[in-house]
Amino acid sequence: MLKVIQTYEEFKIANKKLIGIFGGTFDPIHKGHVQVIENFLNLIDIDELIVLPNGTPPHKEKRINELDKIKLVNIALSHINNLIIDEREIKKRSPSYAYLTLKEIQKENPNDTLVWIMGMDSFLEIEAWYEHENFIEEVNLLILERPGYEVGETSFAQNLLKAKRITNFQELKDSKGKIFILPIDPIEVTSTKIRQLIANNEDVSALLDGDVYQFIKDQNLYKEQ
Ligand code: ATP
Repeated sequence: MLKVIQTYEEFKIANKKLIGIFGGTFDPIHKGHVQVIENFLNLIDIDELIVLPNGTPPHKEKRINELDKIKLVNIALSHINNLIIDEREIKKRSPSYAYLTLKEIQKENPNDTLVWIMGMDSFLEIEAWYEHENFIEEVNLLILERPGYEVGETSFAQNLLKAKRITNFQELKDSKGKIFILPIDPIEVTSTKIRQLIANNEDVSALLDGDVYQFIKDQNLYKEQ
């Protein structure tokens, strides 16, 4: 019979990992992203983080090429341990869906617990995601608070929280279908703002990792909005 794992110690002894998955358009990756990642890695004990740069959806204009984007993500996150930059979505020619990517990652890590990490802005739009009901049942969600994004009283997100929210992070281990909200230090910067500043020839050096900034400057990226 399958033994139910009760405590985090048992979870570790069973050699199970808690894997975080953090997707984003990273267009471009900025200090806010890096700070957000460092911040949640300090607050929660996940064993491995998969960073998943998203491909450009067909209805959106591609601003830089995939290889440049992957390069910038690698530069900005090279100092973080136990981190994998997963290129499967960005290298796909067809659109990617979080639910299908989740199924692949589950297959590759059948014994581990997966936690999909996203900012509150993304969570508020989850109702529009492909197969969102199955997605929410089959993975845990870690939601990062973000300035300016609140859950509306009668929203879909609020109903989800009523049904699935837990307040002890440890309960995520060896489970699925749970939601945990993590308060993190508020960071206002967005990629949209950075693209606007670059297009207006304004200085963005303080908002980007030094090498990311240099690469964008040398390659003349994001000059047009
Ligand atoms: P854009 O301005 O192009 O929408 P962005 O700055 O929001 O970009 P994304 O690449 O879409 O960046 O973000 C990746 C993930 O990080 C998303 O889940 C987003 O919600 C989250 N995120 C980004 N910035 C913050 C922040 N300041 N606080 C909390 N979460 C954030």
